[in-house]
Amino acid sequence: MVREILTFPHPLLYKKSREVKEVDSRLAKLVEEMLETMYKAPGIGLAAPQIGENIRLIVFDLSDSQLPERKPHYLINPVITEWEGTSVGEEGCLSVPGIREKVKRFARVEVKGLDLDGREKVWEAQGLMATMFQHEIDHLDGILFIDRLGPLKRRRVKGRLLRREEEE
Ligand code: ZN
Repeated sequence: MVREILTFPHPLLYKKSREVKEVDSRLAKLVEEMLETMYKAPGIGLAAPQIGENIRLIVFDLSDSQLPERKPHYLINPVITEWEGTSVGEEGCLSVPGIREKVKRFARVEVKGLDLDGREKVWEAQGLMATMFQHEIDHLDGILFIDRLGPLKRRRVKGRLLRREEEE
């Protein structure tokens, strides 16, 4: 089932998500729904709070969307355990439609989390994947990429988004 993606300034996007304590069939179903929703959008990553579920769960797929075989991934309770360097890249977000801005991130990260069998998974990421992890984990802490912009730019972007919301 494709779920509705919440957009700025929905309050659930600004709530800190809680850790997943129990990995059960409901969680497996949620992973499926999140992947379906992400592919439909389409996007390369999605965090559970973006569909109104304030738990620490992300899905992602950075494979070429033109290929017939996609590579869906998910991670439960993801945590950045190591980081190195900085890199600036343009980001967008399914919850902030129509906005793309440059954001400063760590260039390389190590991320640990769990799979649906409760086993630990470790990802070593750089480039787009490192950015994606930091962007999605930010969602779990109630932070949008536009909150990472400098104060002037942030105010301008938020003003534009709020005006657009009023016009709709
Ligand atoms: Zn996002």
